[in-house]
Amino acid sequence: MAYKISRPKRTLGDQAFFPEAAKGMALTIRRFFKNTFSKEENKVIATVRYPDEVRDYPERFRGVHRLTHRTDGSPRCVACLCCSTACPAQCIYIEPAEYDTDDPRAGYERYPRVFVIDELRCIFCGYCVEACPCDAIRMDTGVHVPASFDRSHFIFDKETLMSIPGKDGTYVTENPRHEPGDPTHPGITREQGH
Ligand code: SF4
Ligand code: SF4
Repeated sequence: MAYKISRPKRTLGDQAFFPEAAKGMALTIRRFFKNTFSKEENKVIATVRYPDEVRDYPERFRGVHRLTHRTDGSPRCVACLCCSTACPAQCIYIEPAEYDTDDPRAGYERYPRVFVIDELRCIFCGYCVEACPCDAIRMDTGVHVPASFDRSHFIFDKETLMSIPGKDGTYVTENPRHEPGDPTHPGITREQGH
């Protein structure tokens, strides 16, 4: 059964849109004078004077990335490449390297000799954070990438990523796994296997 949708009835004034346009213009002019000449507390301004004023970001805001630290200041990252594999924008570049042979982590895990994120290409999806098995990369800094006209300012290298604290001011995170060399470590190495 066909269903007929009746056309809305519009007057000539509605069709011409002039009255509505005039109303909108009157509101704009009223606000202009009110916000220009009245006292500060009487002004109605929906915008902020960015960057001198910034709005509070919501609790779950994904800020710019940071690489977390171990207690000795080294990167928590083990260069497993999970984040760069998960990244849909392909904006993470990592070069893994081996620890020195006298380091307890040698043969068990690697470290990122190079770790770069192109923050301009990033879509801030958070997949890299979800993919990381070590809590080594976070987006809890509470800040966004500073504006710049220079493309190179958006290429964050390892040192830059490690220099940014979380919004609570901390750098160190706990390893959700065993630390190589600690007494609770099961002694698994790449050679011995599981
Ligand atoms: S937030 Fe998304 S796009 Fe940005 S680096 Fe992480 S995985 Fe890639
Ligand atoms: S940040 Fe995490 S997921 Fe990415 S390479 Fe390092 S340990 Fe792996």
